[in-house]
Amino acid sequence: MVIDTRRCSGCHACSVACKSEFNVPLGLTRSWVEYIEKGDFPNVSVSFLPRLCNQCRHAACADVCPTGATYKRQDGIVAIDPDICIGCKYCLQACPYDARFINPVTGAADKCDFCLHRIEKGIEPSCVNTCPGRARIFGDLNDPGSEISKVISRNPVTVLRKGMGTEPFVFYIAADHADEHDRKRGWNMRVTTHRRQKERR
Ligand code: SF4
Ligand code: SF4
Repeated sequence: MVIDTRRCSGCHACSVACKSEFNVPLGLTRSWVEYIEKGDFPNVSVSFLPRLCNQCRHAACADVCPTGATYKRQDGIVAIDPDICIGCKYCLQACPYDARFINPVTGAADKCDFCLHRIEKGIEPSCVNTCPGRARIFGDLNDPGSEISKVISRNPVTVLRKGMGTEPFVFYIAADHADEHDRKRGWNMRVTTHRRQKERR
């Protein structure tokens, strides 16, 4: 998936579509949007950073799962078998992006899976389908003719927390990677989201 932050207005349509698609319990999120406010009046900027599981090539969550409930599919998607998950939360700790939670209904780990049930039928993920700004592009990176391959070939893209070595498959165009640590540079900045989280990862 590519997320073109220049086209994101922070409207949360993606977050709402995801909640609805999966009946995600209150207070929990598979997909969320961060608001990044930076600068001092009148030189201020606001940008938006949609977040979700990065379907990492080197998925730390799958590496630590003791039962094999979390696994990497051949198509690159990191999936969870809730019937095998024992709810040990190892994966929640291991994920450098805080993308997972324990679903109180199933007792199993949960997260975005690029809407597996939809894409297996050839329908794009719910967040992609819903985004009014067409900020999200989903497709097959192995197909050089796909829209996503063309977009990546034409634009510089970045990934979140590159230094973690996870090699995410969610790419961003024009993302602001500033975080709270940048306050040390003297920037006045704030990152907020509607989601409950102890710390930003
Ligand atoms: S973002 Fe987290 S949950 Fe998703 S594949 Fe990477 S390590 Fe696993
Ligand atoms: S909570 Fe479930 S998916 Fe996560 S590591 Fe434990 S068994 Fe694996």
